[in-house]
Amino acid sequence: MPATRRRYAVLGAGPMGLMTAIELLKAGHEVDLYERDDRIGGMSASFDFDGLRIERYYHFVCRTDEALFDLLDEMGIADKLKWTDTAMGLYCDGRLYPWGTPGALLRFDKLGWIDKLRYVLLVLKTKGTRDWRALDRLEATAWLKKWLGMRCYEVLWEPLFRLKFHQHMDRLSAAWLGTRIRRIALSRRNPLQETLGFIEGGSETLLERMREAILSRGGRIHLQAGIERVDTQAGRVNSIRVRGEDIPVDGVVTTAPIPYLPQLVPDLPADFVARIRAIENIPVVCVVLKLSQQLTGNFWLNICDPSIEIPGVVEYSNLNPGSGPAIVYAPFYMPKDHPRYARDNAAFIEEVIGYLGKLNPAFTRDWVLATHCHRYEYAQTVCPPGFYAMLPPMQTPIAGLCVADTAYHYPEDRSICESVKVAKALARAALA
Ligand SMILES: Cc1cc2nc3c(=O)[nH]c(=O)nc-3n(C[C@H](O)[C@H](O)[C@H](O)COP(=O)(O)OP(=O)(O)OC[C@H]3O[C@@H](n4cnc5c(N)ncnc54)[C@H](O)[C@@H]3O)c2cc1C
Repeated sequence: MPATRRRYAVLGAGPMGLMTAIELLKAGHEVDLYERDDRIGGMSASFDFDGLRIERYYHFVCRTDEALFDLLDEMGIADKLKWTDTAMGLYCDGRLYPWGTPGALLRFDKLGWIDKLRYVLLVLKTKGTRDWRALDRLEATAWLKKWLGMRCYEVLWEPLFRLKFHQHMDRLSAAWLGTRIRRIALSRRNPLQETLGFIEGGSETLLERMREAILSRGGRIHLQAGIERVDTQAGRVNSIRVRGEDIPVDGVVTTAPIPYLPQLVPDLPADFVARIRAIENIPVVCVVLKLSQQLTGNFWLNICDPSIEIPGVVEYSNLNPGSGPAIVYAPFYMPKDHPRYARDNAAFIEEVIGYLGKLNPAFTRDWVLATHCHRYEYAQTVCPPGFYAMLPPMQTPIAGLCVADTAYHYPEDRSICESVKVAKALARAALA
């Protein structure tokens, strides 16, 4: 038990908020966890999809996700982590190619052998990189063009960047991109076989264990209880407002997307607010389909084809065979002010269904058993060159107020594993 037992409010019950709450409880403090949604999980939350519990967004695990393995161990569910030998595909210029193996690259007829050699060298370089600071200041597309050449960049990467980052596509950090390539490149059983993991029962299995760990340590979880405001007195956190009620607290740790912060904490100094406002995010509109038949044999299918306006589809059932006949996720990323974002969910669902006959000519509409579409506004942080220096410190200028969100995964991309790692650092900052 600490000398002074503090009362903490943790904001957000995604993996980061849950983990932060567990760490603060372990240190002997009182913790209330507030979540705006009607369920825990944030981006990892599940829903009932026509009788199947499944995540709103697909989730896979890589062999490098050490912090996640430790957490599964700590929660007593290490045996729930399963591995599948997965296949990757590439839909390019009206044709579906196998992808992700040396043989597939050799047979790919859109690139010359020098392009292919350059591609292999890039993957080998990223696999061997440990310290990403040197790449933090480099711009990703320029870095890719230098390593791969224009032809390879235009065939394989340009459509992905354009469809995911739009006007931001030429202002991304090479460190962020490099860690993404490395994470997937290292998730292999051998050089020929990609191996990805999933949690039996989905991320919900882990989230529920984390919920139990919080409750068993005396923590409280409040759902549909968004924090409306954080008030301060003499430069330190004083109280939070939830459902119109002011609740006194000694510390607040927020794990919600940081763009919410300026409105939540009106007393934040202007220079700190300016740093937050400089960080941009891209929303996702993610279509999920349940099909009666397998669409392709791939888990991940990259799409580099002008007739399809999504960067790829994920056939989750090819990773987790327990998830039904065929579950396909199709994510659209676009800024909120993009004209297509204003369309309703049904329009996105129809668009995806319209593409499926290209990916598998045997597809017919009666394969579609159920559809769903979900949006998350702050789904993907745009990490420009120099992002290390842009990130505001976790300890804000207000005593007792600490912040982080998925931007703090940098240089890694967002993942449950990184949320767990950042949560531990966040809890240390809050306890200091
Ligand atoms: C399309 C997609 C695919 C992904 N694929 C993978 C994958 O394959 N593998 C992987 O590991 N990860 C993946 N991720 C990322 C993973 O889901 C996230 O890294 C993780 O869920 C982030 O958790 P978090 O707790 O850090 O943040 P969040 O999930 O953003 O949680 C923040 C929480 O704060 C809550 N909140 C906001 N405002 C308030 C308020 N005022 N008061 C109270 N609560 C509030 C929100 O409702 C939310 O629940 C994917 C994400 C997306 C969108």
